[in-house]
Amino acid sequence: MAEVRVKSIVKRYGSHLALDNVDLEIAEGEVLGLLGPNGAGKTTLIHAVSGIIGFDSGEINVFGREQKSNLLEIKRQMGVVTQEIAVFHDLTAKENLQFFGGIYGLKGQELKERIEKTLEFVGLSQYANKLPTTFSGGMKRRLNIACAIVHRPKLLIMDEPTVGIDPQSRNHILETIRQLNEQGTTIIYSTHYMEEVQNFASRVVIMDLGYVIAEGTMNDLVKKIQHEEKIKIEVADPAEDLLQKLRRVDGVKQVSLTGREILIISQVGAGNLDRVLSIAKASGEIHSFYTEKPTLEDVFLTLTGKQLRDVGRK
Ligand code: ATP
Repeated sequence: MAEVRVKSIVKRYGSHLALDNVDLEIAEGEVLGLLGPNGAGKTTLIHAVSGIIGFDSGEINVFGREQKSNLLEIKRQMGVVTQEIAVFHDLTAKENLQFFGGIYGLKGQELKERIEKTLEFVGLSQYANKLPTTFSGGMKRRLNIACAIVHRPKLLIMDEPTVGIDPQSRNHILETIRQLNEQGTTIIYSTHYMEEVQNFASRVVIMDLGYVIAEGTMNDLVKKIQHEEKIKIEVADPAEDLLQKLRRVDGVKQVSLTGREILIISQVGAGNLDRVLSIAKASGEIHSFYTEKPTLEDVFLTLTGKQLRDVGRK
């Protein structure tokens, strides 16, 4: 059963169409990576799914129930980490969790245990009695995540949680998410950092201008674009004769040499790897041989004409 089903959602801000008939399904246990440039509609979609904003038409089902009429019940099993860090700065880390745990109906011993476990999980146990004002950005974000998972939600929705955070905290957060998913939490994760999605999302959705323009696994998406394959071979003796032979192989578009490394640009799926390798072998010892697949960045650029990495925050 789909954990989240979004059907023909339309959301307007005045005359601006922020979501234009968006359809989406997220299966239980999946990590869905939501990608798109500024203004694509990711935050609007996330806010609509989590019930933070309403929408003009369409339908959202969460945990198999119609969202609008079951919102309170659904929210009890959902955790949301918004783009802006939402913690109380005049409450300690522990008090923040007491507050959020309380909202979700936790109390007494159960609440106490959940707070301890959650602080430990996000690596903030030793800061339990400290105010977030003394925390780094990464620690604040970890506390923010703790507030969203203290009640062990089935579905965790995160909107660019690693923006502007030091690499150590970022790794910690990514590891936390990986573990939560391993424990069965379904995750929707919006980001500008392609490598995050590439590494742990089971499926990727790319949005632009209020539409879903592509979705699928990394492999599905890569297949959608025509791309050149890069083959790199380091040989003991990169003679001109070898380069000439490689240039004549079917599907090979370009051959160039840097030091001892030969870079071959070939048509994707030309089926010429064996031929390239045997020609290289015949020339002498091969030190290394590898091919590079198109990255999600290439896919994104091809589909939207925009470079994701260059799109800073508003
Ligand atoms: P980012 O990566 O910058 O967060 P996004 O993909 O999350 O972008 P949204 O924030 O969902 O994009 O915005 C989608 C569109 O709707 C944008 O054109 C934005 O300007 C517009 N928009 C968002 N919120 C509002 C609002 N409250 N009032 C008017 N327009 C809005």
